[in-house]
Amino acid sequence: MARILDLLGHPHTVSIELWPPRTETAAAHLERALVELGRLRPAFTSITYGAGGSTRERTHELVVRLQEEGKTTPMAHLVCAAHSREELRLILERYRAHGVENVLALRGDPPLDSADELPRGELSYAVELVRLAKEVGDFCVAVAAHPQGHPDSLDKKQDLDFLAAKLELADFAITQFLFSVDDYRRLRDGLAERHCTKLVLPGVMPITNPRTVARMAEMAGAPVPDSVAARIAGAGDDPAEVRKIGVEIATELCEALVADGAPGLHFYTMNQSAATIEVCANLGLPAYGQAP
Ligand code: FAD
Repeated sequence: MARILDLLGHPHTVSIELWPPRTETAAAHLERALVELGRLRPAFTSITYGAGGSTRERTHELVVRLQEEGKTTPMAHLVCAAHSREELRLILERYRAHGVENVLALRGDPPLDSADELPRGELSYAVELVRLAKEVGDFCVAVAAHPQGHPDSLDKKQDLDFLAAKLELADFAITQFLFSVDDYRRLRDGLAERHCTKLVLPGVMPITNPRTVARMAEMAGAPVPDSVAARIAGAGDDPAEVRKIGVEIATELCEALVADGAPGLHFYTMNQSAATIEVCANLGLPAYGQAP
């Protein structure tokens, strides 16, 4: 396996995000997605973590399984929220013992289907978890970046200052899903002004279900631009047409990001493979469709 930082920097680097499944049906979806998305030969596969520890064991099992299968480099998401420092240390040590080298250090949000306030946890900010991960082992540590500013942040400049400080300790960043190359450019330029040259991998989520995306976008503080919403609305209620336009929009965005020098493309797949595969095929990514 590899440290992800060594795999980035190539415009055709594709990586994917998956969720650990909660039900048998979801497990079957995941297995299908793993096979189908595996054909893209993703540089790495990141596995989400339910803040509050709701997926603690399931995230661990999936990350370790991918590590042992050796087909893709796994990256374990881990969040500060609702955990003590000692719990986080134990989780990191367990990963280390299994040879897992890559972690995405996050503050954490409550799950989408929960209205509950999430307890803060002993560490307040992701930067503290980056520090802990570096202390526990020689992890390659990624962090989250929010191109439109984090939704809790009242001051975008200060938010960028915090991101630059987090990146001083971390190895690279992955953005919240974005819909405009200008947002990516602004973020990268803002970091450059702060003398931060760490790689920032843009996150892309092809729109296949406008209602789900709108809900996620609102929560993530990454609103769907009016121009994108209008194109999707033009598809009416026909799910196949919505998906077709969603794939077109994501393809155009990826083309712009690659032209802009993005060090790869990170797909928020929601454990679905078809749209991501279509976008990659449209981009003519060399890996797709070829035998590994
Ligand atoms: P932080 O970097 O801690 O920032 C949070 C807020 O605190 C910001 O407003 C920031 O400006 C402010 N801040 C930062 N440092 C300081 C400081 N020193 N002093 C004062 N204020 C400060 N959530 C999950 O629950 N599970 C997941 O698996 C998951 N995966 C994600 C993957 C990616 C790629 C991304 C982009 C997000 C993911 N999230 C996940 C969501 C993430 O947990 C939320 O966006 C969360 O609200 C913020 O996380 P962060 O790590 O950016 O927080």
